[in-house]
Amino acid sequence: MTEYRHIKIPPQGEKITIEEGRLKVPDQPIVGYVEGDGIGPDITKACLRIWDAAVAKAYGGSRQIHWCETYLGEKASKLYDGNYCPDETLQALQELVVSIKGPLTTPVGGGFRSLNVALRQDLDLYACVRPVRHYAGVPSPLKNPGKVDVVIFRENTEDVYAGIEYKTGTPENEKVAKFLREEMKARFFEGAGIGIKPISEFGSKRLVRKAIQYAIDNGRESVTLVHKGNIMKFTEGAFRNWGYEVAREEFGNVTITEEQLYNEYKGKQPDGKIVVKDRIADIMFQMMLLRPEEFDVLATMNLNGDYLSDAIAAEVGGVGIAPGANIADHVAVFEATHGTAPKYANLNKVNPGSLLFSGVMMLEYMGWKEAADLITLVYPEVVLDGIVTYDFARQIDGATEVGTSQFADALIERIEGGVDVEAKRRAQQEQLAKERKQREIRRLLQPMEEMLDTGRVPHTVGDLMTRSLITVTDGETVEQAMHVMTENDVSSVVVEPNAAGDWGILTRRDIVTKIVRGSHNPATTRVADVATRPVESVSAETSIREAARIIADRNFSRLPVSQGDKIIGIVTEQDIFATVDKFGWAVDAN
Ligand code: NAP
Repeated sequence: MTEYRHIKIPPQGEKITIEEGRLKVPDQPIVGYVEGDGIGPDITKACLRIWDAAVAKAYGGSRQIHWCETYLGEKASKLYDGNYCPDETLQALQELVVSIKGPLTTPVGGGFRSLNVALRQDLDLYACVRPVRHYAGVPSPLKNPGKVDVVIFRENTEDVYAGIEYKTGTPENEKVAKFLREEMKARFFEGAGIGIKPISEFGSKRLVRKAIQYAIDNGRESVTLVHKGNIMKFTEGAFRNWGYEVAREEFGNVTITEEQLYNEYKGKQPDGKIVVKDRIADIMFQMMLLRPEEFDVLATMNLNGDYLSDAIAAEVGGVGIAPGANIADHVAVFEATHGTAPKYANLNKVNPGSLLFSGVMMLEYMGWKEAADLITLVYPEVVLDGIVTYDFARQIDGATEVGTSQFADALIERIEGGVDVEAKRRAQQEQLAKERKQREIRRLLQPMEEMLDTGRVPHTVGDLMTRSLITVTDGETVEQAMHVMTENDVSSVVVEPNAAGDWGILTRRDIVTKIVRGSHNPATTRVADVATRPVESVSAETSIREAARIIADRNFSRLPVSQGDKIIGIVTEQDIFATVDKFGWAVDAN
C-alpha cells in the first residue's frame, strides 16, 4: 500500500483487486469514502450506519467493509493547505478501486476546475451510471411510477463534455469560422458561437460495451441506444451504428436486435438473449412517460444522457433519492447526484436517499447483492409507514417528518428486525415475468400498434410487411381468386408455387388489364394463366428506402418478401405511405 500524508488505510482490511478483468472483492474489503461538503457529513454519517447494518445482517458478521476516509472539497482544503483536490486522494481512489462520495462544492472563480470534472478526467471515469426505479410510497407525478426501472449509461468524456467551444468575437472563433466557411463550404450566420462535439468509435464502444455487460450481469432484458441520428448522422448516428457493432461483434451470442426479435422470433424474446434496440432521443422522453416498462438499460451520449437522467429521476421522486456512479474500466466512484444544499448543512434534515442508493449500487457492483437487497426491500416499508424527511413529508398527507439520522434509525431497525428477502425477491420476479409475458403477447398480436406505441422506428421491409399471406393455387379460377380478394379486402393474392417451385402473384390490376381488357371469362380462366410468375421479391432485411426505389423504378405497387425460397409476407406502396405518414422522416435514420 502506498504511504499517504493524511489518508489512513485501515490495517484490518484488504484491498479490492482486479483479476482476469473482473473485480475481486475480499470478505474484509477496504472501501474509500469522501464525506462531502454542505449536507455531505449529515447524509454520509447516516448512510455509513445503514450500509454497515445491512452487511452485518446479510452475512452474519462474516463480511465487513473497512471504510477509508479520503478528502476532497472543503475538508481537503483545510488539511492540504487550500488544495480542494489533492493528488493523494485521486491516487487513493484509484488504488482502492471502489469508493463513494458525498456532494462537493466547486469554489467559484480563481480558475478551479470543478472537482467532479477533475475526478472524471483524472480517473477516466467514462461511464456515468444512473439507475432510476420507483420505491413504493415515494411521491411521484406519474400514475404508475412502479413501471420505471431503468439504468442509464451516459458517456462521460466526449460530446459536449469534450468542451470544444469558441466564443463569438475571439480570434479562435474567427479562425474556425473562416475554415468552416471557406474550406468546408459550411453555411451559418455571422458572429455565431461555435461548438464542436466529437463522438468517437472508441468512446462510444467502450460505453455501450459496459451497458451490455451490465445487462448481462444483472439479468436485464434490453439495451436501448438513444441518439438523434436522423439529424446528426456522423456523430449521433455513428454512436448508434457503433453500438450495434459492439453488440454484434462482441456479444453476438447473447444479443439480438429488435428486427430479429420481430422477424425471426415473432416478438417472443428467447431466453438468455438481450434485445439491443435504438430510439431517437426526443421519442425517448415521451416513451419514458408513456411506456417506461419497455425500457431497461439505456446507453446514451453525454448531452442526451444528461437531460434524460434528470427527467427520468423526476418521474420517481427527484434528485433527493436518485443515485449515481462514475465508472472507469474497473475503478468506480459512487456518488450522491444532488449538490451540497448549503442552506441545510448540519441541520440533520435532508433525505439521505441519493447517497444511500448509490451505496446500494456499490454493494451490487461488489457482488454483495444480499446486503443491497435488504436496503431496497426495507426502504419502501419505512416510507409507506410515513416516516420520511422534510422533502417527502411536504408531499405526503399525514406523514411524520423525521431528521436524516432518525430516518436512518428507522431503516436500521427494520434491517435488524429481519426481512424475508427470498419471498420478496420471488414475488418481484413473478411480477416481472408476468409483465414480460403481457408485452410478448402484444408484440405477437399487434406488431404495428406495438411499434407505434413503443417508439420503435421501422427501418426494414420486415418491420412493415403483412405476414398473414392470402394465397390461391394455380388450379383455381380467376373468379374464385377474385372472391378471395373481395372477402379479405386485399388488392392481391399470392399464388402458391408451381411444379417448378416458383411463387406467383395475382393483383386487381391483373384482372383489369388481362381479363377485362382481353375479354377473357374469369369463371373459366385459371389463375396460372394470368398470374405474374416468377415474382420479384426482396428479403425482410431490405431497407424501406431500397424497397421504395424498386417499387418506383419497376412501377410495382407491392413487393413480396421472401426468406430462402419461401414468400413470407408482402409490402405495399400503401404500407410505405402509412409508415411515412405515421413515423415521418425518422425512417431516414437508416
Ligand atoms: P443542490 O445542492 O442539489 O440543491 C438544490 C435543492 O435540491 C435543495 O435546495 C433542495 O430543495 C433539494 N435537495 C438537494 N439535495 C437534497 C436532499 N438530499 N434531500 C432533500 N432535498 C434535496 O443544488 P444547488 O443548490 O444548485 O448546488 C449547491 C452546490 O452543490 C453548488 O456548489 C454546486 O456546485 C454543488 N453541486 C455539487 C454536485 C456534486 O458534487 N455531485 C452536484 C450538483 C451541485 P428544497 O430547497 O426545495 O428543499
